[in-house]
Amino acid sequence: MLAGMAEPELVDVIVLGLGVGGEEVAGRLAEAGLTVVGVERNLVGGECPYWGCIPSKMMIRAANAIAEARRVDVLGGAAQVRPDWAPVAKRIRDEATDGWDDRVAVRRFTGKGGRFVRGSGRLDGPGRVRVGDQVFQARHGIVLGTGTRPSVPPVDGLADTPYWTNREAIEVEELPESLLVLGGGAIGLELAQVFARFGVRVTVVEALDRLLAVEEPEASEVAAAALRADGVEVHTGVRAARVDHGADGFILRGTDGEEFHADRLLVVTGRRAHLDELGLDTVGVDASRRYLPVDDRLHVTDDIWAVGDVTGEGAFTHIAMYQASIVVADVLDHIRRSDGGADPSGTASVVGGAVGAASSLAVTGSSGSAGSVPRADYRALPRVTFTDPEIGAVGLTEQQARERGINVQVGFTRLSSSTRGWIHKTDDGGFIKLVADADQGVLIGATSVGPAGGEVLSGLVVAVHGAVPLAQLRHMIYAYPTFHRAVSDALRNLGS
Ligand SMILES: Cc1cc2nc3c(=O)[nH]c(=O)nc-3n(C[C@H](O)[C@H](O)[C@H](O)COP(=O)(O)OP(=O)(O)OC[C@H]3O[C@@H](n4cnc5c(N)ncnc54)[C@H](O)[C@@H]3O)c2cc1C
Repeated sequence: MLAGMAEPELVDVIVLGLGVGGEEVAGRLAEAGLTVVGVERNLVGGECPYWGCIPSKMMIRAANAIAEARRVDVLGGAAQVRPDWAPVAKRIRDEATDGWDDRVAVRRFTGKGGRFVRGSGRLDGPGRVRVGDQVFQARHGIVLGTGTRPSVPPVDGLADTPYWTNREAIEVEELPESLLVLGGGAIGLELAQVFARFGVRVTVVEALDRLLAVEEPEASEVAAAALRADGVEVHTGVRAARVDHGADGFILRGTDGEEFHADRLLVVTGRRAHLDELGLDTVGVDASRRYLPVDDRLHVTDDIWAVGDVTGEGAFTHIAMYQASIVVADVLDHIRRSDGGADPSGTASVVGGAVGAASSLAVTGSSGSAGSVPRADYRALPRVTFTDPEIGAVGLTEQQARERGINVQVGFTRLSSSTRGWIHKTDDGGFIKLVADADQGVLIGATSVGPAGGEVLSGLVVAVHGAVPLAQLRHMIYAYPTFHRAVSDALRNLGS
């Protein structure tokens, strides 16, 4: 130990980054009786509650109420709607984020017995984490849940402008008159539609040849049509070459000379982990990768785990929570195995109980299981883009399945040809698309687009996750007249 260096403080587990994933792991391990230090440099809870899922879905809820009120004209009379952003901004400030204050979340963690340290942490050799002057040594392991930050493309001039990321878009109190959205992925489309419904002139610029390019092309078409119906200008296949900002706002120029003007520019072109900040070199882990490679029990090394967006397995809160359960079970299993079953921290009864709880997470069958710890299985990864209509998807798209050489069958049906879609009347282009493995006789992917596309998805997730035989799905009763009943039509239409 060098003179002047702090003596490391010995604890059981250190969790770096208390976003969705890190907070869940740290809290549950602390509840299990371990001494857990949770390090967070910003707000406990991370992106989702303060600048992500929750406030954006509050915005969407308000925008959808406005759009639904406007549909009264078609269905039952006349409605006048006067959008007002003030109650939305207030709800986000007061109900979702406490004015971007995490005192409640910190108490939630410390109330479980965790020790909270505010600051930026880095690995500092095997088992060690440094946070400013404090150094912690972990007896059993370190969990990295450091998430991602917006990835801003290297477009000339952009870095010198006051562009928005999701953070400024979520915190906005007064809406601009016009907004350019650079990036046609889920976050960009959700925010574009919200702002358009509140009267902002919105233009979406996407470099690829379609919006929401990771999903089925039919979903991209519906998304583009829905945005255009809300007055959004949609430009695909435009590569940004230069951005300027002046008294008249932003000018974005494309490589083919296209020019777009707006008061504000929102950059939502993906997210990136910042591995270079974590001191990974001190534990022999390559920091030059885009994400932290993990195995199916979320190990980076024997005693370092990672959880959430930083793993690159899907930037969703439900992935972070799913992985957190596996990490908790695996850390406890690791302690039990390394101590030959002995109590690691003098809290035998509590930890014993927690190990028991970990065992109850055991799964068998297709997702595989080693001992008592379930292994991560992303085959049935669900994702929902909360535009109106909602775009829900699970598993493989048709193209992904074909690229894997699978003997693919596809079933498709429009919601408008189902009873419920016809009753609904305000056709939004919704559909069900199924992707089946004809040899195995099971669904391997599905897309559900419609007024409740994300909810209809749940049955399809069960089908993919459980590898339910197609014959059984066909011989099932679908409630009449629901949106999900369209799944039975799509099953009937399955063909190569
Ligand atoms: C606008 C928007 C909408 C979204 N909507 C949805 C949605 O509807 N559904 C959904 O499932 N997902 C959604 N997401 C994604 C979701 O927010 C993320 O998947 C989730 O927050 C990931 O959790 P995490 O714990 O991996 O990381 P994060 O939530 O990013 O948390 C990581 C934490 O680590 C901290 N940290 C980083 N480095 C250090 C360090 N060195 N020392 C200390 N602390 C550190 C950060 O400050 C941060 O608090 C949305 C995201 C955005 C931006």
